[in-house]
Amino acid sequence: MRVLVVEDEKRLAAGLKSGLEAEGFAVDVALDGADGLWLAREQPYDLIVLDIMLPSVNGYRICSTLRDEGNWTPILMLTAKDGEFDEAEALDSGADDYLTKPFSHVVLVARLRALLRRGARERPVVLEAGDLRLDPGERRAWRDGTQLELTPRELSLLEFLLRHKGTVVSKRDILGHVWDYDFEGDPNIVEVYVRRLRNKLDRPFRRRAIETRRGAGYRLAGDGG
Ligand code: CA
Repeated sequence: MRVLVVEDEKRLAAGLKSGLEAEGFAVDVALDGADGLWLAREQPYDLIVLDIMLPSVNGYRICSTLRDEGNWTPILMLTAKDGEFDEAEALDSGADDYLTKPFSHVVLVARLRALLRRGARERPVVLEAGDLRLDPGERRAWRDGTQLELTPRELSLLEFLLRHKGTVVSKRDILGHVWDYDFEGDPNIVEVYVRRLRNKLDRPFRRRAIETRRGAGYRLAGDGG
């Protein structure tokens, strides 16, 4: 198992390297952010141990850059900033776990082994119906390779229809999932949004993906129309 340690405190980095090697890991060390990012991009690691406060590129930035590039190697973040450290920020940037310094070697190894067992997280699956595609992670959608200009609500409606492609979904189901369960406005809002979607993903492409089933609801054609 190959581990990348990105840590600018030399003694800590050396200690991590020898400790993890004693546990049977193969360990590379980067002492600054730019080197760490370069190694993480170039080499296939099973795990990355990432300090947050680093020269040149900080740990949050490294993590979010790798995730944006589709690199899902498990990342454990290290931080000395107990209290100031924003756990949500670490996890938002795409880290899988974090550990506050000082930490015990035993705890570190246990956490790394747990991450290895979990393996790389999967990127959210791109939803497809024929040439209609939606990436829930990026919040973007395409028809025949052309990116669609959709509002967040239109995107959510399309996502819901794609997740149920080929089946009829009722207006009530749509309201419950795309709006709120306690939505109390006019249920005809669904018709308005379905019409807007058709104007964006069907009409310009001379397609008919979204069928109306009178009295029952709507159905997105499994082949994208
Ligand atoms: Ca540091």
